[in-house]
Amino acid sequence: MVPADRTTQDPRRHIVVHYGELGLKGRNRPVFLHALMRNLERALSSLGEGSVEQQSGRLLLTAPESVPWGELEERLQQVFGVANFSRCWTAPHDLEAVKQAVSRALHGRSFASFRITARRAFKELPWGSQEISRILGTHVLESHATKVDLKNPELVVHVEVIPRQTLIYVEKTAGAGGLPVGTGGTLLGLLSGGLDSPVAAYRMMKRGCQVHVVHFHSYPFLDRASQRKAQTLARLLTQHQYHTKLCMVPFGEVQQRIVSAVPAPYRVVLYRRYMLRIADALAQQLGAQALVTGESLGQVASQTLSNLSVIEAVSTLPVLRPLIGMDKAEIMEQAEAIGTYATSILPDQDCCTLFVPRRPATRTTLPDIEAAEQALDTPALLQLALEGTQWITCDFPETPAYASSEAALEA
Ligand code: ATP
Ligand code: MG
Repeated sequence: MVPADRTTQDPRRHIVVHYGELGLKGRNRPVFLHALMRNLERALSSLGEGSVEQQSGRLLLTAPESVPWGELEERLQQVFGVANFSRCWTAPHDLEAVKQAVSRALHGRSFASFRITARRAFKELPWGSQEISRILGTHVLESHATKVDLKNPELVVHVEVIPRQTLIYVEKTAGAGGLPVGTGGTLLGLLSGGLDSPVAAYRMMKRGCQVHVVHFHSYPFLDRASQRKAQTLARLLTQHQYHTKLCMVPFGEVQQRIVSAVPAPYRVVLYRRYMLRIADALAQQLGAQALVTGESLGQVASQTLSNLSVIEAVSTLPVLRPLIGMDKAEIMEQAEAIGTYATSILPDQDCCTLFVPRRPATRTTLPDIEAAEQALDTPALLQLALEGTQWITCDFPETPAYASSEAALEA
C-alpha cells in the first residue's frame, strides 16, 4: 500500500499534454511524437530541471514547483502540435491517494457546481469509470459547498486512469495546434519587416516546418531600421521553433543597378526576381526545400497573377504563399494574435520604398522582363549580394551567442 500522503510530498509541478490526432497515423506517429517531445523539452529548458515522457497517448511533463504556472502556460502555448494541456496532480492506483490528489487540485477553489469526468485507459482496476466518478463526487461534496451538475457544471474535474498512475486536472488550456516543428521540412522565408511575411512564416511553422529567414536591406543607403525590425521579428518567430538563421542581404546596390538600367514600371518585378534568385541560392546553402513569401493576391501591383508567375519563374524551388487568399484585415488580425503586429507597423524605410516607381506595371510578361534584364550582369549582382550577406543566429531560449550576433549587426 502506498503511503496516503505521497501526493503532497512531490516537489514537482506536473503537466499533462494532449496532442491532436493530426499526423498521428501510421508511420508518422513516432516521428511526430519524438519531435513534439524534443520541442517541449526545448521550450521549457531554461525553466529548471524537468522531464517529458510519453504515457498512454499523452505526454507528462514535470517542472520545478517554483516556476509560476503563467510562465509555463506561456511557453507551452507556443509549441505547435499541442492540442491542450493542464496542470495535473498524480496519484498511484489507490483510491485514498486519488481522493487526496483531487483535494489538492481543488484546494482554494470555490465553484457552484461540478462534475467528475473519469476515463480509464487502464482497465485492470476493480472500479469502473462511473464508480470512480461517484466515489470522488461524494468526496468533493464532503469538502466543498457545491453541487453536482452533469450537464452544465462550473468546474469539470478530469480523472484519467492510465497504467502507471491516475491523473487529476481541472482546467484545460488550448494549445497552438498544428504539427510539431521539425516534421515538415526546412523552408526559407522572405522576411521584409512588414506585416505579411512574419505571418506567412508563422503559418508554415505551424505546419511543422522550420523556417529560416532572409531580409533584404538597403544599408548604407538607408538606416538600419528595417534590419532591426527583421531581427526582432525573427526573434519572435524563434519562440516557436527554437532556432532560426537570419540572412541579412545588402540589396541597395542591386536596386541602384536595376534603377539605372530598367524602365521604371518594371522595377518592382525585377527587385522581386533578384530577391528570389538570391533567396534560392541561400536556400540551397541551408538545405531548404522551398521559399515562403507573404504575398496575397491583388494586395499590391507586384502581386497580380501575371506578375507573381513572372517573379517565381526565376526560382528553382517551389514558392509557398500561405497568405495568397487572405484579406489584409485577416492578416492583421493574425499578426496581432502572434505578437508581430507592433513590430511590423514600426516606421522604417524598407528597401522597396526606395526607388519605387509611381506606376508599377501590373501585367508584365516573361519575354518583356527577360529582355529588360539583358541590360544587367545578373551573376555579378548575385555574387555581390551573396558576398555581403551576414548570418545571424537566433535561439530560444536565448543564448549569449545571440547577444554577440546582435553586436555584429551594429558594427
Ligand atoms: P510584407 O508585409 O511582408 O512586406 P507586402 O504586402 O508589403 O508584404 P511586398 O512588399 O510586395 O508585399 O512584398 C511581397 C513579399 O516579398 C513579402 O511578403 C516578403 O515575403 C517579400 N519581401 C518584400 N520585401 C522584402 C525584403 N526587404 N526582405 C525580404 N523579403 C521581402
Ligand atoms: Mg513590404
